[in-house]
Amino acid sequence: MKAVVCAPKGKVKVDEVPDPQVQESTDAVVQVRRTAICGSDLHLLDGTTPGMREGAVIGHEFVGLITDLGDDVEKRFEGTRVLGSFLIACGECSECLAGRFNFCAKRRALGLGTLAGDLDGAQAEAIRVPNADLNLKTLDGALSGLSDEEALLAGDVMTTGFYGAALADISRDDVVAVLGGGPVGLFCALACRRAGTERVIVLDTDPKRAKFAKDVMGLDSLHLKGDKPEDVVKKATGGALPDVTVDAVGSIEGFKTSLRCVRDGGRVVVLGVYGAERYEMPMGMIWIRGLDLRFAGMANVHAHWNDALLSVGKGEIDPAPAITHRLPLEEAEQGYELFRSRKALKVVLTP
Ligand SMILES: [Zn+2]
Ligand SMILES: [Zn+2]
Repeated sequence: MKAVVCAPKGKVKVDEVPDPQVQESTDAVVQVRRTAICGSDLHLLDGTTPGMREGAVIGHEFVGLITDLGDDVEKRFEGTRVLGSFLIACGECSECLAGRFNFCAKRRALGLGTLAGDLDGAQAEAIRVPNADLNLKTLDGALSGLSDEEALLAGDVMTTGFYGAALADISRDDVVAVLGGGPVGLFCALACRRAGTERVIVLDTDPKRAKFAKDVMGLDSLHLKGDKPEDVVKKATGGALPDVTVDAVGSIEGFKTSLRCVRDGGRVVVLGVYGAERYEMPMGMIWIRGLDLRFAGMANVHAHWNDALLSVGKGEIDPAPAITHRLPLEEAEQGYELFRSRKALKVVLTP
């Protein structure tokens, strides 16, 4: 089959690879109908997330049809349309039993390198999914009306936004600033707004992204310019800094800006992906300001994807405008270029 694989020097190529097979009795094989390129794919190729093997299949967002099942899969059937979770959990450890699937003792992720279990990814014609009963969501019942594209982003970026909003623990009179107008930031802002908070603002240093958040996604947004981002925010809020900031960027600069733009005693949710970066934390400043830092870890997909999908089904959130480019899988290299150069916000590939 055809798949997007990791090539030397942080590049990708579309290559012929062996068809995935059921390896364990709890596996499913899914024929992929739609898959997407994610920011963490770039982190991986750029080497900030270590452990990528050349020739490994990339990708972790997909919707497809089950074509093959191991003997011990109970709740899934061949021919069923399913959404995949990027996060692969075991369902049996104490963390999974407590609903903290992202801290599963055996957690892995699809297509995210050797440190994430070395599982082949979803930018392919088909994918093997371990522990299929837990890690695939059947798109039936109330979810059967969703199109593949409407469901697709709930396996990662959209649900990551919902998870971030849950971590932010917002109340009605909170003002939330989400740093980063990429897909995760946009969905986090939409999820915060849905949770009923007073005001949500998307902040981005890229004026085009700030404009996209406002014009296309219907969110309040600000272009952060200059070396005092907190002043830009204060100007827009009438002088007060937000109660919560969410770093949906995953860069040291983004993290520092999130610290600067929150009020004393406020909460900072670190949702963006970090790998090998290092930062010397100003302990005294954080202590005296009483900042509540909440590092997300991988998103708890299984705890929030139903909520995310239902919000799409009810028309509360429409993920479609976030998908700016659609390409055949064969043109994945071009898709990565569009995404890397920030010409594309979200690229969907069709095998
Ligand atoms: Zn991702
Ligand atoms: Zn587990």
